[in-house]
Amino acid sequence: MADIAAMATKIIATEKTQLSALKQIPAAQRTFQNTVAALDLIQNEAQTAFLKIDFLMNVSPLPEVREATKEAVDVLNRELIELSYDEGVYRAVKEYAALGEVLQGPEKKLLETTMRAYRRMGFDLLSEVRTEVKENAKKRAELGTEFGKNINDWKDHIAVTRDELAGLPDSYIAGLCRDDKGKYLVTLEYPDFVPFMESAQNASKRQELADKNSRKGGEENLTILAELVKLRAENAKLLGYKDHADYKTEDRMAKRGQAVGEFLSGLRDGARPLVAKELLDITALKREDTGDKEAEIHYYDVAYYSRMLKEKRYDMDEQKIKEYFPLAAVKNGMFEIYQTLLGVTFTRLEGYKLWHEDVELYEVRNTDGALVSYFMLDLYPREGKYSHAAAFNLVNGHLHKTEGGEGAYVPPVACMVANFPKPIEGNPSLMSHYNVEVFLHEFGHVMHHVLTQAAYPSQSGFATAWDFVEAPSQMLENWAWEHESLKLLTKHHETGEVIPADMVEKLRKARLHMIGHDTMRQLSFAIFDFKIHTEPFGTPLKEVLRNTLIDLMGVAPSPVSLQPAGFGHMGGGYDAGYYGYLWLRVYAADMYTRFRDGKVLDPEVGKAYRQWILEKGSSMEEIDLVRGFLGREPNNKAFLESIGLGG
Ligand SMILES: [Zn+2]
Repeated sequence: MADIAAMATKIIATEKTQLSALKQIPAAQRTFQNTVAALDLIQNEAQTAFLKIDFLMNVSPLPEVREATKEAVDVLNRELIELSYDEGVYRAVKEYAALGEVLQGPEKKLLETTMRAYRRMGFDLLSEVRTEVKENAKKRAELGTEFGKNINDWKDHIAVTRDELAGLPDSYIAGLCRDDKGKYLVTLEYPDFVPFMESAQNASKRQELADKNSRKGGEENLTILAELVKLRAENAKLLGYKDHADYKTEDRMAKRGQAVGEFLSGLRDGARPLVAKELLDITALKREDTGDKEAEIHYYDVAYYSRMLKEKRYDMDEQKIKEYFPLAAVKNGMFEIYQTLLGVTFTRLEGYKLWHEDVELYEVRNTDGALVSYFMLDLYPREGKYSHAAAFNLVNGHLHKTEGGEGAYVPPVACMVANFPKPIEGNPSLMSHYNVEVFLHEFGHVMHHVLTQAAYPSQSGFATAWDFVEAPSQMLENWAWEHESLKLLTKHHETGEVIPADMVEKLRKARLHMIGHDTMRQLSFAIFDFKIHTEPFGTPLKEVLRNTLIDLMGVAPSPVSLQPAGFGHMGGGYDAGYYGYLWLRVYAADMYTRFRDGKVLDPEVGKAYRQWILEKGSSMEEIDLVRGFLGREPNNKAFLESIGLGG
C-alpha cells in the first residue's frame, strides 16, 4: 500500500510546485486567468486526488487499502490546510485584485469568495491577531472533537424484566442482551431506544430510559460547550463580526444572523397552533388509555402516544407497502422519472473493472446524444463499506481553459453509495417507502453534481452554499409521494401491479402525522443554537434549552436532563447552522410548487429546474437561482402548507 502514501506525497508536492509558479508571476502580468482561475484549478486538482483517496477509504473491499487510505487522508488534511495558509498565494490574489479589473458573473463571484475566504482566515489582520485567530481555531477543533467523543463513548442502559417489556414485539425482545440475573438490557442505541420509547407500556421504565438518555455527554460536555461558545464569540470579534451567527452565515445563503433569527421566529409563530392541537390529541388519547381524566403528557409519553395515535388513525401495514417496491422496479422507475424530467439518457457501460463487481457505471447524454457526464451506483452492503447512503463527487465538472485557448469541458463524475439489500434469485429486495425516498434523494445529489455546467470547479455541481445544498434533493423526495410518479416506481413483486390509489392516499395522510411536533422540535434546537451564538453569555446553556423546549413544545424535558450535553451538532460544523435543516425545507417546498398540479413529470418544468438549479452549481447566488426558477420572490407559504398549515 506504499503507492497510496506515495500518492499523497505526490499530491502535496504537485500543489507546492504549482503554487510556487503562481506566486512568481510579476504583479503587472497578473490576469484573472493566470491567478484567480489558476488557483481554483490548482486547488481542485489536489482536492480531486484527495476525494479519490477518501472515496477508496469508504468503499474499498480490501481492509489494507482502507487502512492505508485512512492514514493518507489524515496527512493530506493536515498538509492541505497548512498550504491554504500560504502568505505568498494570498499576496498573489491581492495583487490581481488591486488591478481593479471589472468582473461580472461567475468570475466576479470567484474573486469575491477567494478574498472572503482569506479574510475569514484572518489574512488582513495584524500578524499577532492572526496568530490568535489560528490558535482559537485549533482550540475549537480540539474541544469539538472531545465533545463528540464524549457523546459517542457514552454508554448506559436500563435493566428490565420480561413483564416490563410488554408492548414490544418478540423480534425486538429476542435481540436484547441479558445480564447474569436474566434481566433484559435496553441501551441508548437507536435500535433499542426508539422502539422502547414508542411501544413499552410501562411508563416508569420509559421515564427511566428517557432520563438516562437525557444525560448523554455528561456534565463535562456542558463545560466544553460553554467554552466553545465563548471561543466562537471571541473568534467572531477578532475577525470583526458582531457575533458567531454573523460569522457563520456570511458565506451561506442566509448571509446574516438576523435573517436566520427572523426566519426561525416566523416559523415558530406559524407552527404554534398546530403543536398545541397535536398535544391535545395525544393528551386525550392518554386520558382514554389510562382512564385518568386529569392525565397530562410527560416527556416520556410523547413517542408512545404518538405511535398509538398513528396506528389508530392510519392502520398502515408497512410490510404490504414494501411489496410494491422491489429494488429493481424502483431503480428503473427512478431512472425513467429523472430521464424524462431532465432531458437526459442513462446508458450502462459494461466491461470496466471497478472496485467491486456490484458497482454499476453509467454515462449521461443529452437527448441529442452529446456526452454530459458519468455516474456510478454502489448500492449493496459489504464488509467495511461506508454504512449510510450518500453521494460522493469524484470529478468536479469544469472548463479546462489555458491562457488564450477556448478550452474543453471536463465531464463530472459522481457515485451514489448505499446499503440496500441486494436483490437475488428468490429475494427481490423489497424497499421500505422511507428507503425509496432515500434513493430519490441521494440520486438527486448525483444529478446535481453530474449535470453541472459551471466553468470553475469550486462553483461546480453540489458545491453550493451549505444551507442550500440539500434543497434540490429534498425537493425530489416528493416524487415518492405523488400518484403519477409512484406508478413508475412501483411493481408488486408477485402480481406486477402498481400501488393502489387508496394505499397512496393513506401514505400521504400519515406523512402529516405529528408533523407540527417534529418541526417544532427541530425548531427548538435551531432556536437554542441561534440564541447561544448571538446573545451574551449569561443563563447556563442547560437552562436556555429547557426554557426553549417548554415554550415551544409545551412539554417540560426531564428534570435530570443535561441536554445540550448530548447535542452532537453543537460540537462543530452545525454550530449556528442547525437552522439549515428547516431553511432548506422551505426552499425545497417552494421550488416544488412549480411541479404541482399535474406537472410532476413535465419535461418543460424539469428543463427549467435543470438549467436554473442543477446546472449552475454556485456560479450564481443561490437565492438568485431560486428566484430564476420560480420567476418570483421565494416565500415560506408552500412549506407551511406542506406541514398542514395555511393554504
Ligand atoms: Zn442529502
